[in-house]
Amino acid sequence: GVRVRFAPSPTGFLHLGGLRTALYNYIFAKKHQGAFILRLEDTDQSRVVPGAAEGIEDMLDWAGIPPDESPGQGGPVGPYQQSQRLALYKEASEVLLENGSAYRCFCTRQRLELLRKEALRSGHIPRYDNRCRHLSSEQVAEKLSQGSNYVIRFRLKEGVEPFHDLIYGWNKHDVATVEGDPVILKVDGFPTYHLANVVDDHHMGISHVLRGTEWLSSTSKHLLLYRAFGWDPPQFGHLPLLLNKDGGKLSKRQGDVFLEHFVQDGCLPEALLDIITNCGSGFAGNQVGRTLEKLILEFDVSRITTHSALLDLDKLPEFNRIHLSRQIGDERLRRKLVEELQMQVEQVYGDRLVDREILERDYVEQILLLRKGHISHLKNLLLPEYSYLWVRPSVPREQLQTISAEVDEIGKLLQGLMEQQAAALTVEGLNKDLRGLQMQTRGTKYSSMMKLLRLALSGLQQGPSVAEMMVSLGPREVCERIKKALA
Ligand code: GLU
Repeated sequence: GVRVRFAPSPTGFLHLGGLRTALYNYIFAKKHQGAFILRLEDTDQSRVVPGAAEGIEDMLDWAGIPPDESPGQGGPVGPYQQSQRLALYKEASEVLLENGSAYRCFCTRQRLELLRKEALRSGHIPRYDNRCRHLSSEQVAEKLSQGSNYVIRFRLKEGVEPFHDLIYGWNKHDVATVEGDPVILKVDGFPTYHLANVVDDHHMGISHVLRGTEWLSSTSKHLLLYRAFGWDPPQFGHLPLLLNKDGGKLSKRQGDVFLEHFVQDGCLPEALLDIITNCGSGFAGNQVGRTLEKLILEFDVSRITTHSALLDLDKLPEFNRIHLSRQIGDERLRRKLVEELQMQVEQVYGDRLVDREILERDYVEQILLLRKGHISHLKNLLLPEYSYLWVRPSVPREQLQTISAEVDEIGKLLQGLMEQQAAALTVEGLNKDLRGLQMQTRGTKYSSMMKLLRLALSGLQQGPSVAEMMVSLGPREVCERIKKALA
C-alpha cells in the first residue's frame, strides 16, 4: 500500500513550506487509502531546538492533517526519530563497508580544510578528492590499531541511471563527476542525512517520497545507495519551489511564514490550506473554500506542474472570510466558534462587561449569524466599532440633550416600540418603524434622532446603522440601554 512521510528537521517552528510538503503528503496518502508518517530528522544535534518536535506535531494537528504514525503516537516501524535509530545506521554502514560500497576515511579536518582552500583559490567548487578510497586493508588496519578517528564515506559510482520523477519526469544527476564521495557516518557515530533518509525510507516501507525540489539533485545519490544495499527504491516526486508572490524566497525573517503566527492571528486552517493549494498545482480547477475532503477528492499528482508556486498571503483575509462564513453556517462548527468568541470577548472586555448576559451563548450566536459573511476573523468583532456589542455605554444625559430636547419622549417611544415587537427585529422593519417614530416627535429631525439613538445605544458618534445595531442587540437589550440613558 501507499506509505508516505513528512520528514522535517526539528530545528524551529513549522513554516508554510513545511506545511505545503506535509499537506501534499497527507492528501496523497488519503487519496490512496495509505498512511501518512511523521519522521523527525534530528541527526544534526547541534541544530535541534527543544520543543520544536512537539510544535511540529501540534501544528499538523491544528491544520487538520495529523500523521497516522509519529514520534508522539508511535506506530509499527518506530522509533520515528532518527536520533533513536543510531544502531540501524551503524549496521547499514557496516553492510556497505563489507560489500565494498563504502570505506573508512581517516582524513583530518586540517587536510580537508586545506583541500577546500586550494579549490577555492583556483576557482573550483570544493570537493573531497576520494583519497581514502585507495587505502589498502593493511593501512586501514594500522590506522584502526592506532585508534585514529574516521568517518565512513559512500563510494559514488560513475554512470548513474536516469530515474522518473512523478513531477519532473526523467532526471539524472551524475553525482560522481561533480561531488567527492559523501560522508554517510560521522565521527560521532551519527549518520548524515543521505544515509539516514535512505535507510529509514526503506525500513519504514515508504512507497512514495514527496519532498521539496531542493532534493531533486540528491536523488541520484540516494538511488545509488539503494542499489548498494540491494533495495528497491520508492518512487520520487519533487514539489516545485514555493515563493513569495513577487517571486522572492519565503522569508522566515518576516516571521509571518511560521504557522504559530497564523494560529495567533485567528486564521482558520482551511484558509491557509486554500492559500497553499491555490498557488500550487495538483488540483482540478482553482477554487476557494474547499474542505480537506474536497482537496483529497480533486487531487491528482500528475496535475502538479514544475512551475514555482507563488504564495499570495494578501488573499488570506478573503479566504478566511469564506471559510468562517461556511463554519458559522454549520451548527456543530458554530458551537465551537461561539465558545472561541466568548473567550476572546472575555479576554478583551472582561472587566468592562457590566452585564454578563451579554456573553450568553444565544446572544453571541446571534451576533455570529448576523455578521456571517461580513467578517474575515472572529477578532474583527473585538474592534472598537463593535464594542457596543459587548459593553453598555454610559453617556451623560446632558450630551444626549444637546442633540435633541426630546430625549425622554424619544426614549419612551422607542421603549414602546420594542415592547410591541413580537417577531425578531429586522433592519427593513426597523427602518420603517423609526421613520414612523420620528413623525410622533414634536420636531426632532430624523438625522438628529438617529444620532441620539446611536449615541445612547453604543456611545458612538458614528458607526453602524442604528437599525443594524438594534437587530444585533435585540429588543430587551435596547430597552435596557434606553432606560439607562434616561435615568
Ligand atoms: N529533513 C529533510 C528536510 O527537512 C527531509 C528531506 C526529505 O524529505 O527527504 O528537508
